[in-house]
Amino acid sequence: MYLKSIEIQGFKSFANKILFEFHNGITGIVGPNGSGKSNVADAVRWVLGEQRAKQLRGGSMQDVIFAGTELRKPQGFAYVAITLDNSDHQLAIDYDEVTVSRRLYRSGESEYKINGSTCRLKDISELFYDTGIGKEGYSIIGQGQIDKILSGKPEERRELFDEAAGIVKFKRRKAIAQ
Ligand code: ATP
Ligand code: MG
Repeated sequence: MYLKSIEIQGFKSFANKILFEFHNGITGIVGPNGSGKSNVADAVRWVLGEQRAKQLRGGSMQDVIFAGTELRKPQGFAYVAITLDNSDHQLAIDYDEVTVSRRLYRSGESEYKINGSTCRLKDISELFYDTGIGKEGYSIIGQGQIDKILSGKPEERRELFDEAAGIVKFKRRKAIAQ
């Protein structure tokens, strides 16, 4: 499984629709300070269901919507879609390619989709349990996060190992059954 593409429109500094395409291997994103490199990582976190505005470096969730510049009007919504290659079927869904998208309007109304079908945030979270990819996963390691892991509480470190060992879904099910 690997990330094939990220489509962004109206999210943070990306007013226009932009498509990042990746291939197997390593890709680097380079650019001057403030050019939007971290916003790309924020977009991926967001589409995976991040609900904490602070984690996205904003004050409220609406701050992810393109706020406008001197030359451009603000956008009415933010949209991000990521497409993953699932030909090895690591994601428990019957498709070789999985696209997950999220859209948020200024009104606060939001919409999640998996392969074009409207779904709940919970469905997206469940799809990525134990893959390391979800918003709590370790596939996105932000600045300062390594320090946090090293100096964190044992219980917090344990969560990371649970995810890597693939037992999160069992723990969640157990918690629901209790
Ligand atoms: P650095 O090299 O300093 O880490 P970077 O390339 O990671 O920089 P980002 O932090 O991704 O840069 O981008 C910051 C830019 O995004 C700022 O110019 C900020 O004004 C812009 N930005 C953030 N949110 C919005 C928004 N809602 N609308 C418009 N622009 C935004
Ligand atoms: Mg940055």
